[in-house]
Amino acid sequence: MARNLTIVDHPLVQHKLTLMRRKETSTALFRQLLKEVALLLGYEVTRALPLEDVDIETPLMPMKAKVLAGKKVCLVSILRAGNGLLDGMLDLIPAARVGHIGLYRDPATLVPVEYYYKVPEDLPERHAIVLDPMLATGHSAVAAVTRLKDDRPLAISYMCLVAAPEGVKTFVDAHPDVPVITAALDDRLNDHGYILPGLGDAGDRLFGTK
Ligand code: URA
Repeated sequence: MARNLTIVDHPLVQHKLTLMRRKETSTALFRQLLKEVALLLGYEVTRALPLEDVDIETPLMPMKAKVLAGKKVCLVSILRAGNGLLDGMLDLIPAARVGHIGLYRDPATLVPVEYYYKVPEDLPERHAIVLDPMLATGHSAVAAVTRLKDDRPLAISYMCLVAAPEGVKTFVDAHPDVPVITAALDDRLNDHGYILPGLGDAGDRLFGTK
């Protein structure tokens, strides 16, 4: 599989994902689990963030200690299911900035069309972490990251929960410079673009809309 794909096989992540996949899992539990998994995936997605030394004093002596260098990351949620990963990530990085990208698929052309886009003005000074639980066909992920690159963030990472091989290929071909972090690489897409075995529609399961 792609060189810049990381599958987080941590037992807690895998256990929580299995609970999320089960069709009888309630909306409340699904939402809670997505938040918890986001925290754990967030640990991995932030692994390469640069550090710098600062001078501090412990109760015993001065020391040089490490802090995150520069401005805090910008979390970019792809609406609407990306918001489910946002909560956990904000617990992890409370000072993060947040951007939102809304895309819908034109029913005639199947091309993603942007209906909302808002990111911080100082994005060129921040690392952007794009959030969307399901990397399915990869078309909206590609479109979102292409749009984000117009605003020149320092770097971009893409974090999802479940990916399909088709989506990973489409995404990595379009954006080979963007690492993808996921909890699972599933088997394939069905004819409607849903991931198999997957977990269904992440937005519906998160917000209880079906
Ligand atoms: N979006 C979802 O929510 N689920 C899928 O399986 C594919 C896309």
